[in-house]
Amino acid sequence: MRILIADDNSVTRRMLKSFLAKWGYEVITTKDGDEAWEVLKEDDCPDIAILDWVMPGKEGLDVCRMVRAANKPSYIYIIILTSLGNQDDIIAGLQAGADDYVIKPFNYDEFRCRVRIGERIINLEREIMRMAATDGLTGLWNRREFMDKMDAEFKRSQKEGRSLGVILSDIDFFKKINDTYGHQAGDLVLQEFAGCLKYNIRQPGFVGRYGGEEFIAGCPGLTLDGVASLAEHIRNELKSLWIPAPDGSSHIPITASFGVSVFMPGESSDKTIDTIIKRADDALYRAKAECRDRVCRQC
Ligand code: GH3
Ligand code: MG
Ligand code: MG
Repeated sequence: MRILIADDNSVTRRMLKSFLAKWGYEVITTKDGDEAWEVLKEDDCPDIAILDWVMPGKEGLDVCRMVRAANKPSYIYIIILTSLGNQDDIIAGLQAGADDYVIKPFNYDEFRCRVRIGERIINLEREIMRMAATDGLTGLWNRREFMDKMDAEFKRSQKEGRSLGVILSDIDFFKKINDTYGHQAGDLVLQEFAGCLKYNIRQPGFVGRYGGEEFIAGCPGLTLDGVASLAEHIRNELKSLWIPAPDGSSHIPITASFGVSVFMPGESSDKTIDTIIKRADDALYRAKAECRDRVCRQC
């Protein structure tokens, strides 16, 4: 876990840094509020900020307010560490959005416990964020998170003149798998299928669960031929997937149908994510109609 220390007093900075490093934290130090804000405004900023109140440039409470106003995607736990110890000061610090308020001089053992509280809160927040973004059964991105990523990737593709492929896949006769082997075995099939997709669609590609037994992948930089051959490869990989049947003596053979489409640089700007996915969906519909277990494409 990374911690930012912002304090204009070099002795405090050095002492704190050495203690925090000894306690296993990665530490970044800044000597005023302006520098602190430069670090904290970045996406990839520290998780915990220990801010002195009185500093040159922005004061600790200003930085605190700016962090809260920025409404950043991941939470920053803020501890105000100051020699201002009146009741009114404490209230002002907490009202500015600080999570904790520690008065100098302070006891290092107590301070360590307070930093641990921050660490617990950050870890809980991460876990909540992970649960809100992923599908509980397969661990893939859920539909909402996938669409957010797709949206961002689509904008990037338009800006950078890069193609963006989409693969929509649907397990064939999945209902029959449930009926034959039971719902639990069906769940296992979904997990194995998701694992196969994830293994084959590497960064910068990303995969989500689109619906029950329907999955979707975004493949930045791939052409229509590229996504079609990737889907074809996955379709073939499924043949060698060994998913044990509940009785243990056999395995559950699966096939899937795939629809692929692509956004190409230079395509008219009225193309949206929805139209690209719709084309993949039309292709998938054809794959199902043409006896399943195949890849169909739509420009
Ligand atoms: P097709 O080849 O046309 O895609 O047929 P299908 O049977 O795969 O598709 P259909 O849409 O008829 O059935 C999908 C089934 O998937 C129905 C639903 O009960 C099942 N299902 C959806 N989510 C889950 C899940 O999380 N676990 C399990 N075990 N089954 C699920
Ligand atoms: Mg199906
Ligand atoms: Mg279906």
